[in-house]
Amino acid sequence: METDKIKNIIEKSKKITILTGAGMSTESGIADYRSPAGIWEQYKAVTIQELGSDIQKRKYYWRYKAETIPGMIKAEPNAGHKAIGELDKQGKLHYLLTQNIDGLHEKGGVSKERIVNLHGTNLEAICWSCKKVYDIEKTLAKLEECDYDPRCEVEGCDGFLKPNTVSFGQNLNPDHLGIAGKAVAECDLFLALGSSLAVHPAASFVETAYSSQKPVIIINRDPTPYDGLALYKLTNSLAEILPEIMA
Ligand SMILES: [Zn+2]
Repeated sequence: METDKIKNIIEKSKKITILTGAGMSTESGIADYRSPAGIWEQYKAVTIQELGSDIQKRKYYWRYKAETIPGMIKAEPNAGHKAIGELDKQGKLHYLLTQNIDGLHEKGGVSKERIVNLHGTNLEAICWSCKKVYDIEKTLAKLEECDYDPRCEVEGCDGFLKPNTVSFGQNLNPDHLGIAGKAVAECDLFLALGSSLAVHPAASFVETAYSSQKPVIIINRDPTPYDGLALYKLTNSLAEILPEIMA
């Protein structure tokens, strides 16, 4: 069976780098933001340029966040997140690169220094001017009071706050990209889990891993453009398969 072979490869590996995407969290009840359900189906992405220059866009953005973030705060890690947490406890996880902004890998037991939140996190807010980080729950709690335009409390700053995620039009953190490059170069196994591998540069990690002769395993419900590079490609539920192959 393929799963036995994969389990065997994981057993023998010592430095595993994992990339995770939205499919990792759907089983924790978090909708893929590319296909959000319900009233926000019509949500229009707001770019960082618009956030900086248009107060109405900013208010719209915070109203959207006020609808979606509380669910993320309450979400629980699933068995897949916990299996990766166990892998870290065994000392086999080199780095966990994630496109998710829900904080579920931290809750699933992966140590903070192993996690690279490529797209930032929704569990913090940040001042766009001085970069001071704020607790997201406190920021959400005062949204009505400030008419959905929360500002920095540092004296003389008054910069606008945004969730500490990478917005449209915003570059990824260069430090994160540096660590991600190292994570791929130094690993002895690369796993891509729950990612459609459609967004660069995350998708290119698979190419880099493959071209530097690392075994690549992809587990994703749907086909990805990189399936042909994978030693194994599975479509299983991550909450079911990860505890089995990482145990
Ligand atoms: Zn500030």
